[in-house]
Amino acid sequence: MVQQQVVIVGGGMVGLSLSLMLAKANIQVKLLEAIQYPDEQQAADLPYHSSFDARNTALSRRSVEIYQKLGLWDALQQHATPILQVHITEQGGFGKARLVAEQEKVESFGQVIENAWLGRVLLSQVRAQPLIELIDAAKVIAIEQNEQQVRLGYSRAGQQYQLETSLLIAADGRDSYCRQALGVSVDVHDYDQVAIVTSVETSKPHQQVGFERFSALGPLALLPLPGDYRRSVVWPVKKGTEHEWLGEENDQHFLDALQQTYADRAGKFVRTGKRFCFPLSQVLAERQAIGRVVLMGNAAHTIHPVAGQGFNLCMRDAYVLVRFITEQISRGQDMGDPEMLKAYEQARLSDQRRVIKFCDAVVRGFSTKNPALKLIRNTGLLAFDLIPGIKPLIANYAMGLKS
Ligand SMILES: Cc1cc2nc3c(=O)[nH]c(=O)nc-3n(C[C@H](O)[C@H](O)[C@H](O)COP(=O)(O)OP(=O)(O)OC[C@H]3O[C@@H](n4cnc5c(N)ncnc54)[C@H](O)[C@@H]3O)c2cc1C
Repeated sequence: MVQQQVVIVGGGMVGLSLSLMLAKANIQVKLLEAIQYPDEQQAADLPYHSSFDARNTALSRRSVEIYQKLGLWDALQQHATPILQVHITEQGGFGKARLVAEQEKVESFGQVIENAWLGRVLLSQVRAQPLIELIDAAKVIAIEQNEQQVRLGYSRAGQQYQLETSLLIAADGRDSYCRQALGVSVDVHDYDQVAIVTSVETSKPHQQVGFERFSALGPLALLPLPGDYRRSVVWPVKKGTEHEWLGEENDQHFLDALQQTYADRAGKFVRTGKRFCFPLSQVLAERQAIGRVVLMGNAAHTIHPVAGQGFNLCMRDAYVLVRFITEQISRGQDMGDPEMLKAYEQARLSDQRRVIKFCDAVVRGFSTKNPALKLIRNTGLLAFDLIPGIKPLIANYAMGLKS
């Protein structure tokens, strides 16, 4: 029997994934998204089309498991690459940490997937799912709630519409309109950085090795991509210096900087794609359950991408929320019950706090020039390589299995 209808605002990677999780649990979804998605034909004509950007996402093993349960992994893995090793080093430092999947007795530490492909697969699955009604080009502009329901107003093609629901999930991103309209305050930390993001080609094959190198300019992640020589770059640099790296005229300058940072570890940096930049801040909502509304994804917590944890954390949140909703329905109770949503929020806090603290500590720990801290950092990295038992712990944690 088809159950009641949930309304989700925001059809980004989190809103789309969550819709599919709900539909799998036989729950009807209405999904409102502000931008207009390309139609099926346009999407098929583009190399991989979606609303999504040029980034790549390192999916933890837990996220891969969730997509496997949804029956999506076969399609997703056509453009995903497993990470079999991770090397962490600091430029000018002597510490080094190396994680090897085989030694940790796991298939891989996760999979790197291009957002454009992830978006395209999610969107086409959502369109094919009869329990999901996708309304794109629909911008939510009003929201109010009472004890029984949430009322939403949205604009579409110059018209205004209203709808009511007993449960609203706001997955409308870092600058969430819903969060603001409900008066939820946020704790913001601006890292004064932007992430330069692109794909590069190197002369050495990547052999499924990911690198995280802490350089003078910031922590630089190099992850393997489909195709033996392609790698994804995420490089947080000081805000205001991004113009030095963007634009075709800076291609060579960018390649030289990578070469200098990585020396010969990846071979020669042969070619770079177009660079994009993303401002980096940590934005944490002070509450995630507000009456019959729950904040999800970046609307609830936006974190620094240094350890590739943000989306994976959102996937675990979404998975647990669906479990709470399903249990509520199976007890014959109101699926938007504010007490149930508060219980969900409580259940997720410890995992969220650990990940947020971890990512923030990595960024702050490696952005200091203090020599004493540098020594601690380096010995910390060495300890990571030498102390038995510590590696599996960190590896499990990064793979999202300890939640
Ligand atoms: C450089 C970088 C690299 C990253 N790499 C990783 C990684 O490797 N691994 C990882 O786990 N995470 C990573 N992340 C984090 C990850 O990208 C985010 O966690 C994820 O994109 C959050 O998705 P979202 O759907 O919550 O938000 P968004 O992608 O911002 O989606 C929000 C959606 O809501 C819509 N919307 C907004 N307002 C309205 C409105 N009023 N009405 C209707 N719709 C609305 C928007 O159009 C948008 O489609 C990275 C982040 C960055 C910046």
